[in-house]
Amino acid sequence: MWNEVFREHQNVSPHCNGILEWDLSMEEKWGSAWRECAKCTKCTYRSKMFNLYEEVASIKRGRRAAKINLGLQVGLHHTPISTASYRKICMASNIPPPSVSGMQHTANAISEKGRRRKHERFTTTKGENKKDKKKIRGENPDVVNIQSDSTQCPYTVAENETYKHSIINTLPKSKLCSKRKHTVSTNVGEHAGPCTANINMQDSIGNEERWARECFEELKEDGLEVNEVTTDPDSSAYRAAESLFQEGLTTTTPSIFLTPDM
Ligand SMILES: [Zn+2]
Ligand SMILES: [Zn+2]
Repeated sequence: MWNEVFREHQNVSPHCNGILEWDLSMEEKWGSAWRECAKCTKCTYRSKMFNLYEEVASIKRGRRAAKINLGLQVGLHHTPISTASYRKICMASNIPPPSVSGMQHTANAISEKGRRRKHERFTTTKGENKKDKKKIRGENPDVVNIQSDSTQCPYTVAENETYKHSIINTLPKSKLCSKRKHTVSTNVGEHAGPCTANINMQDSIGNEERWARECFEELKEDGLEVNEVTTDPDSSAYRAAESLFQEGLTTTTPSIFLTPDM
């Protein structure tokens, strides 16, 4: 940047002996990514704006994300440090901290991407394959036989039609978050940045009926309805399927098969 600015200043006003410095009134900050320009202390010379960061390659229109902002959030995602704590570390070590709004925006984008990718990997392809296979066999592709159980947090629904028992939907429920605030408060999403807790402390982790219902509703959105439910006798997955049917949200009457060893 500075070589270009010196040369340009020399061309514009060859006899000026002013000093070139940052024009802080024009400064733009987006998280840790800065855009700056230079001005002369004597004449009216002012340079164009320079990006002082590398951009992420993207085919979308509009301003591209900065590598440094995405990288920082990926890093934070793997540590128990929150956005606020990271800014404190910066300030304590006299490094200009990134702006809160910029960090929050990138954090949201990162966690949404991660969530979508996990969900896609787990469900869509399996669900779609399943539909194709059922069509070939001449069966109704829009209903599915399932088995379900909840092991503490991750509620999983697996198809019960092939020997593979592929997982067709999963609903991770967690009260745990490594960010500092959750150890003292009970509200979800109270701190800035991605939160790994998605239910409140006062919610019952054993509320199988609710998790099953959410799972079935997601399946319904993907165009699949529950037909036969295979589950353990104390599970409420069947009640969830039944109440969805009674409320008219699904059109397939569910039937239950109990298995004691799940
Ligand atoms: Zn000048
Ligand atoms: Zn949290």
